[in-house]
Amino acid sequence: MTSPIRSMSVAILTVLFLPISATQATAQGTAGTVRKLERPVANPVVLSPGFRRAIMRGTRTERGEPGPDYWQQSAHYTISARLDVVEKRLEGTTRILYRNASPDSLPRLVVQLIQSFHRDDVPRIRSAEITGGYTFTRVAAAGQTLEEARMLRGPGYATSQTNLLINPPGPVAPGDSIVLELDWSYQIPQVGAGGRMGWNSDDFFFLAYWYPQMAVYDDVVRWQADPFLGQAEFYSDFAQYDVTLDVPQGWLVQGTGELMNESEVLPDHIIQRLRQAEASDTVVHVVAEADLEAGFTRASADGRLRWHFTADSVRDAAYSITRASLWDVVRTNVGDRDGDTQPEYSRAEAIFRPAHERWRQTARYAQHSIAFHSRHTGVPYPYSHATAVEGDGIIGGGMEYPMMTLIGGYDQASDRAMYSVTAHELAHNWVPMIVSTDERRRAWMDEGTTDFNDGNAFADFYPGSDDGMQDEFAGYTGLARTGHEGALMRYSDFLDTPGHYGVHAYTKPGSLLYTLRNLLGEEAFYRAYRGYLSTWAFKHPKPWDFFNYFNTSTGQDLDWFWQTWYYETWVLDQSIASVTGGPNGTEIVVRDIGDAPMPARLTITLASGDTLDREIPVTTWLGGTREATVTVPAGQEVVQVEIDARNGFPDVMRKNNFWAVAANALPAELPLAVRNELVRNRGALLEEGYRAEGELLSGEVADDATDQRTISLEAGAQYAILAVCDQPRIRDRTTHQCSSSRHRPPVSTIWT
Ligand SMILES: [Zn+2]
Repeated sequence: MTSPIRSMSVAILTVLFLPISATQATAQGTAGTVRKLERPVANPVVLSPGFRRAIMRGTRTERGEPGPDYWQQSAHYTISARLDVVEKRLEGTTRILYRNASPDSLPRLVVQLIQSFHRDDVPRIRSAEITGGYTFTRVAAAGQTLEEARMLRGPGYATSQTNLLINPPGPVAPGDSIVLELDWSYQIPQVGAGGRMGWNSDDFFFLAYWYPQMAVYDDVVRWQADPFLGQAEFYSDFAQYDVTLDVPQGWLVQGTGELMNESEVLPDHIIQRLRQAEASDTVVHVVAEADLEAGFTRASADGRLRWHFTADSVRDAAYSITRASLWDVVRTNVGDRDGDTQPEYSRAEAIFRPAHERWRQTARYAQHSIAFHSRHTGVPYPYSHATAVEGDGIIGGGMEYPMMTLIGGYDQASDRAMYSVTAHELAHNWVPMIVSTDERRRAWMDEGTTDFNDGNAFADFYPGSDDGMQDEFAGYTGLARTGHEGALMRYSDFLDTPGHYGVHAYTKPGSLLYTLRNLLGEEAFYRAYRGYLSTWAFKHPKPWDFFNYFNTSTGQDLDWFWQTWYYETWVLDQSIASVTGGPNGTEIVVRDIGDAPMPARLTITLASGDTLDREIPVTTWLGGTREATVTVPAGQEVVQVEIDARNGFPDVMRKNNFWAVAANALPAELPLAVRNELVRNRGALLEEGYRAEGELLSGEVADDATDQRTISLEAGAQYAILAVCDQPRIRDRTTHQCSSSRHRPPVSTIWT
C-alpha cells in the first residue's frame, strides 16, 4: 500500500537509482538516456514488516497518525513495599491487573525484572554491582500459585535474563484481564541499574526500576522482551499505580503521583507551606534547614510511616526517600491544560541535601523548564508536580521518571550546567514519559528530542546564548568525521564503538531536529513537531510514525532526508570548488563532497557590500550529480562566498564552505582552506591580540590528516591551531575550545 506521496517518491527515485551498466543499457536499448550516477541517492523508506502489518490491520497509518483500530495494553499496579534502611533491603508485594486490549490471545506474559540486572549470570554491556536481583516467594496468576520451571510448557514461570516469563493457567483472551501476584525482595544496589537508582550516605534512597513491571506487548513488535543490558533504557505501557511505601519516621518520601495520606505523614506546618507554595511564584522552603533538626514528618507508634501514592496515566513510578534533604517548591505556569483559556499550574520542586549549594537555584530552574517545555512542545504539562532530586553518589548526570528526576550534585559544574541538566531531565516528561517511545531499541527518539527541547529552554532562560544547535552539531560531526558512526536505525544497544551511544542517542538525532527546523522553516517545522507530539501523547509512536507524520504535515516527500540521516551514515560536506570571473559574470562551483544531499544555501557578498542569497535545491543532488554552478551576472564583483553562513546544517568540514578574495592576499604556502579560515576569523583574531592578516608572515600545515596546523602569525610568535574550529561562532574566548558544551564534556577541537 502506498500513499500518493510515497508512490511519487518511488517513481522518481527508482528511475534515478538504477545502476545500469553500459552493456545492460545497450541491451535494453536505452543507451544515451541512462548515465552512471556520481553518488548514491536516497531510496524511499522501507517500512518494517511489523509496521506494515500494523497498517494492514488498521492500527497505524501511512499518514503518521494512529489507525482507527489502534490499541495498547494497560495495567493497574497495587504495590506495597517495606524499606529496611539499615540493611538496604526492599521487600514487597505487587498485584498487577493486566488488561489485554489487543486482538490476540496471550498464552504467555512477560514481566520486566530490571533489578535482576544485578544478578551474576545475566548479560550486560555496562558493569554492575552484584546484589543478586529478585528473590520471589510467590508468583501467582489468576489466583493460582505457579511453580518455577526450567522449560515452560504448562502453567508456571521462568526467569530469562531480566525478564520473568509467566504462563498463566489459561491464555488471556482479547478484551480480558488477568491478575498477577508477586511477592519479592532484593538487596538494593548502591549504584543500581547503571546509576539510575540506589542509595547514598545512609540518608538517601532512590527507588526506580524497583518493582516487577509488565513488558510492552504492542501492535508492531508484539512482546518487546529485549533484556536490559545497562545502556539502552526503558519501554513501558501507561498504567495506574497505587503504591504504599513503609519507611521509618523522619524520612521524607516524594514520588510519582499524588500523596493520598498527607495528614498522616506530614505535620501541619509542612502541609501549610506546601499550600503556600502551590500559590507562589517565588520559591517556598517547604523543608528548610531548621526542619532537618526539628523534624519534618509525623511520628508513629511503631516508628514507621506508610506513604500512600496514587498515579494515573504514567508509564512508570519512582520515589525518593531522604532524611537529610531540603524541599523547595514553587508553582509553574503550564498553560491552558483544560481548554478554559485560563492557565493551570503545577508544582516545580527541588529536593537536595544542603551541602550541594548549586541546588538552591534548582526549583527556579524547574519552574522555568516546565513552563517553557509546555509552550515549546504545545503539550501542557499534565501532572501535579515535577520534582528534581539530588542523588549525588548514585549518578553523575541525570535520569528521568514521570514527575521525578534523579540528578548528581553538580558541585564541580556551573550554574548553566545545573540549569541544563534540570531542563533536560524534566523535558523527558514529554518524551518518552508522555509520548511513549521504545527507548530500549530507539534511544534517539527520546534523547535527541529531549536534547532539542532542553537546548531551546536554555536559550530562553539565558537570552542571547546558543540554543544548543552548535553543541549538538559539534558532538555529532566529531564522530561523523572519523567514519566510525553507526546508523540511527540500528538498535541502541548494538553499536560499534565505545562512546558511540552518546552520538547515536543524543547529538545526532538532536542535530537532525535543528536541521529539520532550518530545512523546513520554523512555521512548518513546529506545525509538524507539535502535531506529532500531541497526536502521539499517551501512545507509542515508532520511527515510521515520526517520518510519516512529518511527510504528511509538511506535504513533502522527505524520505530522502530520513533515509540519508536515519538509515545511512552519509555525511554532509558541501564545498566551494572554485570562484572564477569571466565575461558572463562570476561562476561559483559548489561541489558536494559528502554523500548526504541537502540544499546548498549560498551567501554571496559583493564589492558594494550587498549580499545575495542563492540556493541549490536538494533535487540537484538527488539527480545523482556532485557539482552545480551558481552564476552571478557580470558587473557585480564577488568578494566573498559562504555556504550555510548561519551554520544551520551539520556540515562535517566547514572550512571548505568559505571563499574570500581577501584570502588570496595571504601567503600562498597556506592552503586555501586555512587562508579562508584566517579571513573568516579575522575579527576574533584581532580581538585576541593577533595581528591583522596583512602582517601574517608565514605558515605551514603540520599535519593535514589530523587537522593540526602550526601557523606563525607574526615574526617570532608561533601559534598552533589544533583543528580550526568548525563552528567559530561558539568558540569559547577564555578556554579557546571550539565547543563549550553545557552538560557534556567539550569535544577535543581546540584552538590555542
Ligand atoms: Zn536524556
